[in-house]
Amino acid sequence: MDYDTDVLVIGSGVMGALIATRMAQAGKAVTILEAGPRVTRAEIVEVFRNAPIKLSLTNIKLQGAGSPFPNPPHIPSTYGDYLQLKGPVKYPTKYLRVVGGTTWHFGSALWRMIPNDFKIRTLYDRGRDWPMTYEELEPFYCEAEAELGVSGMDGQDEGGNGGEAWPPRSKPFPMKGLPIPYFMTRLADQLKVGGYNPIYEPNGRATSAYKERPLCSGNNNCNPVCPSGAKYDGTRHVDEAERHGARVFDNSVVYKIEADDSGKIVAVRYKKPDGTEHRMTARYFVLAAYGIESPKLLLMSTSEKYPNGIANSSDQVGRNLMGHTGIAMNVMASEDLWPGQGPTELLVYMNYRDGELRKQIPSYKTKLRNTVATSGLASKLMDQGVYGSKLDAEIKRQSARSLNFAIDFETEAQPQNRVTPSTTAKDALGIPKPEIYYSVNDYWNAGRDFGVKDLQKMASLINATDIKMDTNHQDRQHIMGTTIMGNDPRTSVVDKDCRSHDHPNLFIVGTNVMPSASCVNPTLTGAAVTLRTAQVMLREV
Ligand SMILES: Cc1cc2nc3c(=O)[nH]c(=O)nc-3n(C[C@H](O)[C@H](O)[C@H](O)COP(=O)(O)OP(=O)(O)OC[C@H]3O[C@@H](n4cnc5c(N)ncnc54)[C@H](O)[C@@H]3O)c2cc1C
Ligand code: SF4
Repeated sequence: MDYDTDVLVIGSGVMGALIATRMAQAGKAVTILEAGPRVTRAEIVEVFRNAPIKLSLTNIKLQGAGSPFPNPPHIPSTYGDYLQLKGPVKYPTKYLRVVGGTTWHFGSALWRMIPNDFKIRTLYDRGRDWPMTYEELEPFYCEAEAELGVSGMDGQDEGGNGGEAWPPRSKPFPMKGLPIPYFMTRLADQLKVGGYNPIYEPNGRATSAYKERPLCSGNNNCNPVCPSGAKYDGTRHVDEAERHGARVFDNSVVYKIEADDSGKIVAVRYKKPDGTEHRMTARYFVLAAYGIESPKLLLMSTSEKYPNGIANSSDQVGRNLMGHTGIAMNVMASEDLWPGQGPTELLVYMNYRDGELRKQIPSYKTKLRNTVATSGLASKLMDQGVYGSKLDAEIKRQSARSLNFAIDFETEAQPQNRVTPSTTAKDALGIPKPEIYYSVNDYWNAGRDFGVKDLQKMASLINATDIKMDTNHQDRQHIMGTTIMGNDPRTSVVDKDCRSHDHPNLFIVGTNVMPSASCVNPTLTGAAVTLRTAQVMLREV
């Protein structure tokens, strides 16, 4: 039988582009279907420059629909009302639909999980265990770090105890860590007294010339876009895949996956912005459309033979949605610290990342946001009637001292937290918008209560004033769990190779396959798992 391509990849984000690169390098015919358009860095930077409000994406509430990325009718931006948020806790996640995907505006914190994160059910009677161990994934973490160009500080105890280097690694970071700005060294000294061990975040910012990426200049624009390209984004691998012969069809929104009666996937259907419909066949299919669009597409792909959608014999597609639902604290430091130099995030604390305590409270990470607060402060001061030289002096004083501490909690996989295609709301192409139901359980609440006291302790160690706590379920933009991995086809969607239990030639990749969330940003783990899948696929494609 003739096929249009050997491997058809849905989605050109980091996960889809990584797998496309590996397949194309091995000489396979690869096609990527990408819902969004191509954008250039220059365009995005220009839109950002001309925007009246220039806030970090971490401050989404204030920024409203002000993303510099495109918002065409066939793929409405998640900054508007595209996501149909239901449930007691809002999950206003912000992913991008453009060639290269969401890493265009990610913070690029690229962490490994620690060995115990893979067996939390066994050790702590919480959440789900992984069907693989840290040791099995470790070589692929090294590959992912090399592919994404991670800079980090070797020898740190990322377990949070200030002890030996952890987790174990067979290779050093590809690049040395970033220089530590004054604000962080000063704060680390002050907090050390209370037993807090500073950890400097590994991330996808180049500290030496790396695969055509220039050095990070510390200009603090990482979200919404790194102007120079020092920060990794998925276009790096889209370009690499194309250099090896992969074809990328942009503005191609896949709306249906078709399987034959034997369970094999035979084709996908996609729409162009003008509404025209197209079909493409392949020998192998990789779904890499991230944690909301991937399950939505599977659930939309119903037929007589598969009334519950593709890959969904377990009824787990779309369920177990996790995030790093968090809390935060704003304070005024008692001395000038001048945050805002360097990347938007670097200094973190992990004192409660692991241990028996995890039976009662979730693992968590506390980060110091390193953003420049001047714009928000200036508007607030002017609202208060402060003008002239007094305004100037106050902006200087307050921006030198305003600090934001933010906690990211691990959340458990709970089946009621889920993504479904809306039965009422549709986009311009007539495709259902995603409906998201999200809630937290008492485990999260216990973490919040513990975390608030912990933050108060940190504030008192630096003699902070004007302490403002926000415990209102802050979303951290880390979608996990909606096509979960496991050994048992009755309780999971894919196996440890990311192959659908139901369809032998369908692989689903991304952070959505993760059975547990840990407390750290998930992209490196997603990438490591994806590279492992690429190796499995190369043995048979
Ligand atoms: C503001 C922000 C900050 C973040 N910071 C960090 C961080 O510091 N560290 C970290 O680890 N993670 C971070 N993340 C999360 C990180 O961005 C994601 O984990 C990562 O981008 C996921 O990669 P992906 O390839 O799976 O998905 P994406 O990059 O979203 O790519 C999926 C692609 O699939 C396409 N697609 C979707 N549906 C279809 C369809 N039906 N047909 C065709 N194509 C389709 C999309 O258009 C998109 O291009 C952050 C996220 C945000 C929003
Ligand atoms: S600090 Fe600047 S150069 Fe470095 S990654 Fe962020 S935006 Fe890019």
